[in-house]
Amino acid sequence: MPFDPTREAGLARLNCFVSKAGKAYQDGRNYDVSPEGIGAVSQLSPWLRHRLISETEVLRAVLNHHSKREAEVFVQEVFWRGYFKGWLEQHPSVWKHYKAAVAQTTAHNSKAYRTAVAGQTGIECFDHWCAALKNDGYLHNHARMWFASIWIFTLRLPWELGAAFFLKHLQDADPASNTLGWRWVAGLHTKGKTYLATADNIAKFTQGRFNPVGGLAQAAPPLEELELHATVPFSAPQAEPEKPHLLVITEEDCLAGDTLSPSCLGILGILSPEASRFAQGALRDTLARHGGQLYQGHNWSAAIETAAQQAKTKHILTAHIPVGPVADGFAHTRKALTAKGYEISHKIRAYDSLLWPHATKGFFKLKKQIPTLLEVLDLG
Ligand SMILES: Cc1cc2nc3c(=O)[nH]c(=O)nc-3n(C[C@H](O)[C@H](O)[C@H](O)COP(=O)(O)OP(=O)(O)OC[C@H]3O[C@@H](n4cnc5c(N)ncnc54)[C@H](O)[C@@H]3O)c2cc1C
Repeated sequence: MPFDPTREAGLARLNCFVSKAGKAYQDGRNYDVSPEGIGAVSQLSPWLRHRLISETEVLRAVLNHHSKREAEVFVQEVFWRGYFKGWLEQHPSVWKHYKAAVAQTTAHNSKAYRTAVAGQTGIECFDHWCAALKNDGYLHNHARMWFASIWIFTLRLPWELGAAFFLKHLQDADPASNTLGWRWVAGLHTKGKTYLATADNIAKFTQGRFNPVGGLAQAAPPLEELELHATVPFSAPQAEPEKPHLLVITEEDCLAGDTLSPSCLGILGILSPEASRFAQGALRDTLARHGGQLYQGHNWSAAIETAAQQAKTKHILTAHIPVGPVADGFAHTRKALTAKGYEISHKIRAYDSLLWPHATKGFFKLKKQIPTLLEVLDLG
C-alpha cells in the first residue's frame, strides 16, 4: 500500500477507485478487513490532504461514473473533510488549546503513555494498529475510531496526546480532521456524544481478525472542558486584481500553481519543519511540475524575501493557509515581511468559500446543502 506523493500516483489511484465509489463503498466502507487496512475505501486521503488532487476532481470523477444517489455515501465522506476544515477555521481556539495542552501535559512521562505508543498494551488490536500507524502512516477510519476510543476510555490517556501521536505518524495528518476526529470520539465536538469501541463491533468489522472480549472499557463518559470556543465567522476575502507577484506554495495546497497567471514572476515552495514524508514529496512533485525553489527550514521570511528580491517584486501570493502548523509559522512570517514593506495576499478556493460558511454547527447543517453545493460547483 505505497503512498507515492506525486499527482500522477494520486490520479492513478482515483482512476482505480472510481468504479467502486457507489454501492461497493456504501456496503464495505466500515469493514477493516485486511492487515493493511485496505478494503472498500479509496485511501486517497494523503493526496486530498495536501491538495495534490482536489476535492472537486475527486467528486467530478466519481459523479461522472455514478448517479448522485449511488455515490451519496462517498460524496458525504468527502464533504466531512471540508466540514472539519471549515469548522476549525471558525473555531481556531480549539487548535490553540490543543497545542497548549500537548505542550503542558506531563502524561507523556507516564508508563501508560509509553506502553501505549510502544504498542505493548496487551490489547492485541490496539497494539496492531499502533504498529500499522508507525509502519504505514495510515489506518482505516474505523480503526482510527476504535484506537481513539480505547486510548481515551480504556487506557485513560489525554486525548491531546493521542491526537499528537496520530499527527506525527499519519501520511494524511490534518490539523482539522485529526483534532476534531479525536474530539468527536471524546464527546467534545458533538457535546456529550462519545464513541465507545466494543469487542462485538471490532470483531464484526474486522471480520473476526480481532475480538478483544473483556479488555475494553464498558462506558464512555463524555470528557468536559472549561473553554468556550467562540465562533469566528468566516468571510471569504474579496478577489483583488492580481499584481505581479512571487507565488509561495505550501504543503497545504499543492495545486496552488496549477492555474499560473501571467503575473506570477517566480515560485517558492516552503515546508514546515513538521512536514510528513508525504508532504515533503508532494511539494517536491509540485515544484518539479512548475519549476521554482524549495525551502525547508525555520526562517521562512528570509527565504521569501530572497526569492521575492530575485523575482523583483514586493507582492507575495499564497493559497489560503488554513488553521494548523503552517498558518502558525506563517503568522510570524507575515509580521516580519509586512514590517519590511511586503504585501501578502491569499487566494481562497471556490470550494472552500462555498462550504465553510455552512460548517458552523454539526455536519447535518452542511449535509442538507450538499445537493445545492454540487450544483453551484457544476458537479450536480
Ligand atoms: C481519530 C480520527 C483521526 C483522524 N485523522 C485524520 C487525519 O489526520 N487526516 C485525514 O485526512 N483524516 C483523518 N480522519 C478521518 C478519516 O479517518 C480519514 O480521512 C480516512 O480514513 C481516510 O481514508 P480514505 O481516504 O480511504 O477514506 P475514504 O473512506 O475513501 O473517504 C474519501 C475521503 O473523504 C474524506 N473523509 C472520509 N472520512 C472522513 C472523516 N471521518 N473525516 C474527515 N474526512 C473524511 C477523506 O479526505 C478521504 O480521503 C480521522 C478520523 C478519526 C476518527
